[in-house]
Amino acid sequence: MDEITSVLLVDDDVVDRRAVKRALASGLYTNGIVEVDNAVDALACIKNQKFDVVLLDFELPGATGVETILRLKDSPALESTAIIMLSNHSSDDIVLECINAGAHDFLLKEEVTAAHLKRSILQSRKRKELEQELFDSYQKVKRLAERDPLTGLHNRYYFDEALSHLLEDNARSAGEMVAVMLMDLDKFKHVNDSFGHEMGDKLLLAVTARMEKVVRANELFARLGGDEFAFACGSIQLLCDVRSIATRFLTIFEHPFDIDGHTLYCQGSIGIAVSPLNGKTPEELKRFADIAMYRAKHESTAKLCIFEDNMQQAFLRKYHIEQELRHALQVREFGLYFQPIMHNQAICGAECLIRWFSGSTTCQPQEFIPVAEEAGLIQQLGRWVTETALYTFAGFRQAVSPDFYLSVNVSPKQLSEAGFALFVAHVIKKNGLNPAQLVIEITETVLMQSDEITRAELQALSDIGVRVALDDFGSGYSSLSHLLNCPVDIVKVDKSIIQFINDNNLGHKSVLEGLALMLSKQRISVIAEGVETAEQSQVCHELGIHSHQGFYYHRPLPLTQFTSLLTQ
Ligand code: C2E
Ligand code: CA
Ligand code: CA
Repeated sequence: MDEITSVLLVDDDVVDRRAVKRALASGLYTNGIVEVDNAVDALACIKNQKFDVVLLDFELPGATGVETILRLKDSPALESTAIIMLSNHSSDDIVLECINAGAHDFLLKEEVTAAHLKRSILQSRKRKELEQELFDSYQKVKRLAERDPLTGLHNRYYFDEALSHLLEDNARSAGEMVAVMLMDLDKFKHVNDSFGHEMGDKLLLAVTARMEKVVRANELFARLGGDEFAFACGSIQLLCDVRSIATRFLTIFEHPFDIDGHTLYCQGSIGIAVSPLNGKTPEELKRFADIAMYRAKHESTAKLCIFEDNMQQAFLRKYHIEQELRHALQVREFGLYFQPIMHNQAICGAECLIRWFSGSTTCQPQEFIPVAEEAGLIQQLGRWVTETALYTFAGFRQAVSPDFYLSVNVSPKQLSEAGFALFVAHVIKKNGLNPAQLVIEITETVLMQSDEITRAELQALSDIGVRVALDDFGSGYSSLSHLLNCPVDIVKVDKSIIQFINDNNLGHKSVLEGLALMLSKQRISVIAEGVETAEQSQVCHELGIHSHQGFYYHRPLPLTQFTSLLTQ
């Protein structure tokens, strides 16, 4: 109690003031009593000086006690000050009113004795301290709830709240838009997997630091979790402004990140939705921005994409297919078709092509295979294809020559999981086949992204005698170094090339001729895919390509038609 040095006494009644001062004087803390007789002067005093206690008369001229407390309470100088009300009358209602307004105690003037006042001051100060502690811990919890602990950025919770307010404000200004952007880092998982989570965290911090330099004060910037960041910005007048904001953000990826001696090349993709154009609620806008981000990541070289209505349809279609696929895998709605591969007009092999016989959806492999890959269903589907293909082959093996082969398409995802080669070897053995009778068709993406596992699996397949065909050659990168550095036995030239070769297109012809020559020197066989006309067949032969596949010969056929063709 000795430390109390400053008391502000606010009372318009001189006699009452004197009584209080007397009571205070008989305690140990008479030093530093400031007296005023009205609320305005009290406020002025508080601005200039910090008080430990304010003793406040309930009936001041011009303002009720409660009003005065409310005005005093907003003053930042009062942060650690206890307020005690003094009054000539008391009723429970008045006391409660004062306490609710922020008073820490209520004393009747007639009760003001030294001991009483001392106790009240002590208790009020303690109450004030507890109040402050509670407030501080509330602030801390609030900060935790609104801030991302790693980067210190606002978190998902805060972003949603702030976006709601932004949308409400914007709804009042006609013609203006709010842009919501989601950004994530391409291949962030790869950084985590290869260098560890600590490195991943450091990259996130480095990205945040760069972002903070390009984000402006009026733009909301948050980390939603993982490698996903969000922005929102209001008062936008033109759609092209949205694009330039996103482009500004993407500049942070122009230079690699140097972290712990590693140079990390990192790209971000941004998806954008605009209110009121695309939606009006935070949920809608975030969902649409997410769809657009997906586009930006997978289909756009610009790395940013603004949501359009048809994307929602494409997204829903994909979603629908994914759901149906899960069901189809349970009830086995799939079948295999076989398209003959010709060598000098005779059938030398066949490619297995999956078909989905579904009551409700007509869906081509070109559409559902990518969905299965994304949804992580391709492993299961792929295993079914290999097992069914080889089992079926074992059934018609007697009808074909020993060097007849079956070609099975394999998705990059299947090869990136260890154990694929072992599985294939097991299925070949189970069906009593020769590994040379199986060809697996891979696309160039497999060779491009080839990680340790993929390389090892491919090599293992090659080692057991399974041949590898590079599918769709000429439709993508068509890199010769990929070709020559990997165990590729067969190259299938894509139908888009074959459809262009005719006598009017000498450029294509000579490139193909050169390719066929070079590959034959490397002992790599060539198959022309998508041969549809006699002319195309003729030109391929002229160029030295004698293995063909295409509608000109046969379409993909169901098993019964295919086997009856074999026995003809
Ligand atoms: P792909 O591996 O390039 O298969 C050849 C595709 O071309 C087949 O389409 C076939 O029907 C079609 N085709 C064959 N000859 C001609 C022709 O002369 N002209 C034209 N315009 N097209 C021709 P399909 O069966 O629709 O399969 C499309 C793609 O789906 C396949 O392309 C392959 O990438 C994928 N796919 C099919 N079955 C499987 C499978 O079991 N597993 C995996 N991972 N992918 C598969
Ligand atoms: Ca193929
Ligand atoms: Ca192909």
